[in-house]
Amino acid sequence: MSDSAYFKFLQDSKSIIDGDKNKTVDTSFGGDINDSEMLTTNKRKYLGFVMQKSLEELDENLLKFENKYCRKGLKINWAVDYNDLLSELHSIISKRKLKTAYYTKHYLYDEVGLEDFFKKEKIKYSEVADINFIEAQTLVADTGNLFILDKDMSNLKRLNNGAINVFIIGVEQLISSLGDVETYYNAQLAISQKGYNGYILYHPVKKDNDYLFIVDNGRSNMIKMQRQRVALNCLHCGRCAKVCPVYNTIGSEPYNNVFTGPIGNVVLPFFEDIESYKHVSYACLLCGNCEKVCPVSIPIKDLIIENRIYFRKTKGVDIPMNSNYLAYKKFVTSRKKMNKSHLLRTLVLNKILSKAFRKKRKMPPLEKHTFNKQYIQRMQNENK
Ligand code: SF4
Repeated sequence: MSDSAYFKFLQDSKSIIDGDKNKTVDTSFGGDINDSEMLTTNKRKYLGFVMQKSLEELDENLLKFENKYCRKGLKINWAVDYNDLLSELHSIISKRKLKTAYYTKHYLYDEVGLEDFFKKEKIKYSEVADINFIEAQTLVADTGNLFILDKDMSNLKRLNNGAINVFIIGVEQLISSLGDVETYYNAQLAISQKGYNGYILYHPVKKDNDYLFIVDNGRSNMIKMQRQRVALNCLHCGRCAKVCPVYNTIGSEPYNNVFTGPIGNVVLPFFEDIESYKHVSYACLLCGNCEKVCPVSIPIKDLIIENRIYFRKTKGVDIPMNSNYLAYKKFVTSRKKMNKSHLLRTLVLNKILSKAFRKKRKMPPLEKHTFNKQYIQRMQNENK
């Protein structure tokens, strides 16, 4: 595409964005999301449909993409995990004697540990670099293109500045056809804070200048889960975390991962391992705020419940915790037992729940009088 054609394209895109801003927005959620960040309900539904269709056809789509992308002798680097990716990157860097890299802040780079890798390889950040790490948002299966958002033509210039280009993308980031690109683009514009004003459908020309890495890293575990796989449609916009009361209380630290908040509660046990991450699926009050703001209509609350059912069925939940909770349920649902003295209630519940609260947290003190007694007292006072 010539510069003038591209400029016209940017102008056209701008009018689409402006038009989009005037559409009515769905504000029926309870969280802190700006109206202008919302997609209309119909667009959310449609985008959800497009993404889901692409995901359901993922195996077919990946083959289609490979056929188209590799038609001029280009190669895809399939990385099962980050060791595969980093060792391939290491050999490119040492073979080509590269010293500087350009990259942006991106969750996949954090997931890979790219900055630590650069430190180890003694690669310095530079705006004009030997190697560009360019963020591609999705692959387009039927044309073999990479979809890249652009701002002020900076990515377009970078792609053509003669440096080596590297693209790292998750195996799920793929849409079926060119016909879905506009829908996808409009959604990205509506949710993006970065002020993009165009996109590039990129297909490399030279075979030794561009490297595409398609990363699995646990995503296929998620694809195997018939219900939970819809979580892979996530666009990583972060708005579900913004409106989550639990996330807003505990923050991202307990996750110790680049995936946090409501969507992290769904995907982490599968991306990482169930044993270490199943607890995050319980860090949820099931309020449903997240679902209302998700641009691709991922039913996050339902998926968290699905995870809990799955862990229960596969005995992924702690058996000692289960027996404790059964004892707890038996005690607190017995009026006779709950009306025992404050001291006795405290002793019994401390004993039952000691393991659940572990060493680091103390059990909160019990009310002196149960709710039942408080209620009776209040009624008596009111009738005096
Ligand atoms: S689950 Fe939805 S709201 Fe949350 S980050 Fe992904 S796309 Fe955004």
